[in-house]
Amino acid sequence: MSELEMLAAEIAECTKCPLHRGRTNVVPGEGPEGAEIMFIGEAPGFHEDQQGRPFVGASGKFLEELLESIGLTRDDVFIANVIKCRPPGNRDPLPEEIEACRSFLDRQIELLQPKLVVTLGRFSMARAFPKARISHIHGQPRKIGGVIYYPMYHPAAALHQPSLRSVVEEDMRRIPELVDRAAQIAESSLPAEAEQLKLF
Ligand code: URA
Repeated sequence: MSELEMLAAEIAECTKCPLHRGRTNVVPGEGPEGAEIMFIGEAPGFHEDQQGRPFVGASGKFLEELLESIGLTRDDVFIANVIKCRPPGNRDPLPEEIEACRSFLDRQIELLQPKLVVTLGRFSMARAFPKARISHIHGQPRKIGGVIYYPMYHPAAALHQPSLRSVVEEDMRRIPELVDRAAQIAESSLPAEAEQLKLF
């Protein structure tokens, strides 16, 4: 078993927050060990909980289309979520649930060492840019603690708000170039809060 697989097995046993009681399956995330790009969504929904796999519902279909637009399939990338168990009724994750899952995601990033971490939606963005607004920072890579984060809107946001669709498509199209020049992206010298001030 690889370390990532051992971590997934550990996540499957987790009882650190009450969400474990309502889950059908835990959704640790999936993808090849050598993936250069990691996508981080929010939380499993109904279908993900049923299947134990991330992004297998409507948002997942759109994510697969977006990947196809840059010549990739979901088998080329690692896909995970901020929290690994479905919140009841697909409500937003609570701060304590995000905190309970935090070390799992940190360790997944550490083990995978992706060239680019694409955050999908505001909960995922908030781990790198706690005070930022997604409307201001989407599509702008920032290297923090050796990890290049690239915030994007969540695919579900574009499904609900058609005007966001072209924004999401355009942000996606920049990914191959960012991966190619990942080594040249310098560490951001400002903390996330200051980033916000600098950017806006
Ligand atoms: N939305 C997410 O954020 N993650 C999933 O796995 C599915 C939908």
